[in-house]
Amino acid sequence: MSETPWLERLRGGFKKTSDRLGDNLTGLFTKAVLDEATLDEIEEALIASDLGPATAAKVRDRLASERYERGLTEAGVREVVAEELAKILAPVATPLEIDAFPRPQVILVVGVNGSGKTTTIAKLAHLFLEQDYGVLLAAGDTFRAAAIGQLKVWAERIGVPIITGPEGGDPSAIVFDGVKKATAEGIDVLIVDTAGRLQNKKGLMDELAKIRRVLGRLNPAAPHNVVLVLDATTGQNALSQIEVFKEVAGVTGLVMTKLDGTARGGVLVAAAEQYGLPIHAIGVGEGIDDLRPFDPEEAARAIAG
Ligand code: GDP
Repeated sequence: MSETPWLERLRGGFKKTSDRLGDNLTGLFTKAVLDEATLDEIEEALIASDLGPATAAKVRDRLASERYERGLTEAGVREVVAEELAKILAPVATPLEIDAFPRPQVILVVGVNGSGKTTTIAKLAHLFLEQDYGVLLAAGDTFRAAAIGQLKVWAERIGVPIITGPEGGDPSAIVFDGVKKATAEGIDVLIVDTAGRLQNKKGLMDELAKIRRVLGRLNPAAPHNVVLVLDATTGQNALSQIEVFKEVAGVTGLVMTKLDGTARGGVLVAAAEQYGLPIHAIGVGEGIDDLRPFDPEEAARAIAG
């Protein structure tokens, strides 16, 4: 598959975000001097574009310190925005690495229903297969029959084995079987789907804690990664999801989905700025190849426009 379509989709996706930023900034570039009032307006425009107050304040400070050197052109402001965003994003851009030891490496995937969790699991599995790792899936979202079915369909499509159990069954039993099978068969990576019903936070927390206990008994370092899948189209909601899942699941990294075609991609920056969690990859479409490494420079340029 050529590189162009996804890159276009990504730019297209962030284009909505940058257009929104552009709309928010329009009218601010007619004045001759970058005065305090204009700086305030720019800061507000950045906040309105989901980039978050801390990022907006940083950009404002940079603009304030450079206002005489750079002049007040829209391009100049965008350049400063891009530079500041890249500074925030660069430290969190971290691919999901599979360590050499121990086997299997266990990746718990968490997130609210509809965030793109199942699709992301399939995309990750596909990515690992391409790197010649053996992959096993575990359908740990036993709460929804549809989730089990959907993951099965993906497993068949990409040709990876899957452990499933009955609807309403104990997810930790599935995880137990998954680790046993992966260990016996020398499978490198076990990717575990989990329930996403935040409505019952206590129930979810207990369920995830039990999965962790079972995993820990079999393989003390497991889970090696707890990946939270976030839907970019939910904007600021994504931030509260990080908050909750950090508490209930001990999140170690993020994948942000649906960055193709949302005006709310700026939330990626707010998440990086506020939580500093690794961003492993981004989802830019519904297809199996639509999970991309996270490139901070590219994202910063695309958002700043
Ligand atoms: P889950 O309920 O969290 O498991 O979510 P699913 O994986 O079923 O995804 C929900 C919907 O979002 C499905 O229609 C997916 O095809 C779609 N989806 C997932 N990731 C992306 C993405 O990166 N871009 C787009 N456009 N759609 C996505």
